[in-house]
Amino acid sequence: MNTLSEIASILNAYTIFGVTYHVSPDGDACGSALALVQGLRSLGKEAYIISKDEIPSNLSFLPLSMEIDGENIKVRNRADVIISLDCGNIERMSCDIEDHKGLIINVDHHVSNDIFGDYNYVDCTASATCEIVYRLLKELKVSMNKDIATCIYTGIVTDTGSFRHSNATSVTHKIVSELLKYNIEHTKIHSELFDSKPFIKLRLIGKVLDRSELLMDGKLIFLAVTNEMVRELNIDTIDTGDLVSYGLQVKDVEVSILLKEAENGGVKASLRSKNDVNVQKIADKFGGGGHVKAAGITFKNETFYSAKDKLINEFEKELISL
Ligand code: 5GP
Ligand code: MN
Repeated sequence: MNTLSEIASILNAYTIFGVTYHVSPDGDACGSALALVQGLRSLGKEAYIISKDEIPSNLSFLPLSMEIDGENIKVRNRADVIISLDCGNIERMSCDIEDHKGLIINVDHHVSNDIFGDYNYVDCTASATCEIVYRLLKELKVSMNKDIATCIYTGIVTDTGSFRHSNATSVTHKIVSELLKYNIEHTKIHSELFDSKPFIKLRLIGKVLDRSELLMDGKLIFLAVTNEMVRELNIDTIDTGDLVSYGLQVKDVEVSILLKEAENGGVKASLRSKNDVNVQKIADKFGGGGHVKAAGITFKNETFYSAKDKLINEFEKELISL
């Protein structure tokens, strides 16, 4: 593992940077990448986003969001360095790296990070990758401005659940207090993030909650987004966002699971924990990853029902002792 000042030295030593993140990027992935690209450009470097994914619609308010168009998937040969942000392993990168001949720098805050870079900075105590990028930009002596601050604030709000999760530390709040000095419009950012859903999304939430199941003496809640629901509502893209967190609103629920059928086969699981159950450990058993209280799995060779059975079995062992 490297220090942040070693990472800064590498950035200072090179000129052309491709910045990428995990597939299905969220506010932390997009926010950290757009903040870093702006910071590097302000130092006279050439920096660009590499992304297979388009910008999620609720993040299109971010400065430079138009540079995340899902078209730049290939690494241009001339990049000296690819910087991977908020991504635990190479397979999850929103980028094709076969052509890349230069270095890879891995900057992340996931417990499950594979340390796959030539240089690595992984800090699991950071609430968000944006928190690390803030510190990195300081190390690089980049001058903060409203646009960069907006991107970093967005990532921190996303990954701390608007400052309510246990990962929001005094360091997090100190950084945010600095960001607010740049006149970021925090109320507007929150509305863009959370109050800009298409109406159909509310109907989907209604359907999912209506069909939720409370299991294991009320300690586990199971939510599902099935292809049938998607067909019924005639939705084309389904961003389930943080639907899984609704499950934790129920008294005495310890774990919430959301399973989503993918159109092209495969099943995506989102896992959330309220208190002491480590969902990252369980995600890890199935080749997934994430954090202690928020993790995910992409099942490639399971059906919806076999994935459900396997997960419920595993959680039964964890929850029996509670
Ligand atoms: P979400 O449930 O919101 O998709 O993801 C929760 C956390 O788990 C995020 O930090 C995300 O990066 C991680 N995560 C989600 N899906 C996967 C996956 O398929 N593999 C790995 N390694 N991590 C995942
Ligand atoms: Mn993150």
